[in-house]
Amino acid sequence: MRFSVLDWFKDEKGKLTSKKINDVVIPCDTVILAIGQENSFPWVERDIGLEFDQWEVPVVDSVTYESTIQGVFFGGDAAFGPQNIIEAVEHGHQAAISIHKYCEKESLTDRLEYGMNLITAKMGIHEWSYSNDYGYENRFEVPTVPMNERFKDINIEVELGFEPGQFQEEVERCLNCDIQTDFAANLCIECDACIDICPVNCLMITDNDDEDNLRKKIKTPADNLEQDLFVSEDLPQTGRVMLKDEDVCIHCGLCAERCPTAAWDMKKFTLKVPYALDEANAIDVNATKKAV
Ligand code: SF4
Ligand code: SF4
Repeated sequence: MRFSVLDWFKDEKGKLTSKKINDVVIPCDTVILAIGQENSFPWVERDIGLEFDQWEVPVVDSVTYESTIQGVFFGGDAAFGPQNIIEAVEHGHQAAISIHKYCEKESLTDRLEYGMNLITAKMGIHEWSYSNDYGYENRFEVPTVPMNERFKDINIEVELGFEPGQFQEEVERCLNCDIQTDFAANLCIECDACIDICPVNCLMITDNDDEDNLRKKIKTPADNLEQDLFVSEDLPQTGRVMLKDEDVCIHCGLCAERCPTAAWDMKKFTLKVPYALDEANAIDVNATKKAV
């Protein structure tokens, strides 16, 4: 297989360009193109025990990434068809864990659990480590080139991008999905301040009930059945519960800012995914969570 060795440099216009400086020949018996443009395995003999599905890609275990041949692993588009690069990287991590366990003669399914970490975002009585609050603005429209100007030149970019300042207001609409509400039922004095201030009406203090009834009780009924409701432990004063529709909460933090007893808190969420090195070192991510 002959490879060209390139030297990369910037030309006088600053454009990255290359120049061939050498040839290298690597002797080999078989060359397998692995350029990620199509899944094609005609070169794999069909009588070696490797099962293929209806798309002619290998049957792969979704936890261990092992194929139907012990010790042979697949990931990326070759495992489950076209996905995205982030998932392909995750396949690589998970397959690496399996390969390590396979080499160590350990069970491939005996894996570390995912963990999570929650750290308060509170920095003062009204200060948070993220930009909280609720913006009532509508989504800003991105300025564009006028219609009659667009076709004057094939290279005209239609979207001009936000002006300085506009984008700052636009990012304030961020839902802060890495920040979670956290509720301590034992601190709640049932003053209803959080319910009053919630801009999307997703909170309610009520008698506990079956799920169907609870879903109807919130001011804005919780009708996304795929999203669990948050139901607190019994509140100390009346034995009722704090109910929250997680589906519409926008993590604005106003409930936590308003709460006089800090029963509501806003916490930064970090997902702890065990990787191959964690497995190799037998680090339990849940153990690290306790240490933080
Ligand atoms: S963080 Fe969620 S529950 Fe709290 S006020 Fe904002 S939208 Fe309502
Ligand atoms: S503001 Fe705090 S104390 Fe008052 S009802 Fe809400 S959680 Fe309970």
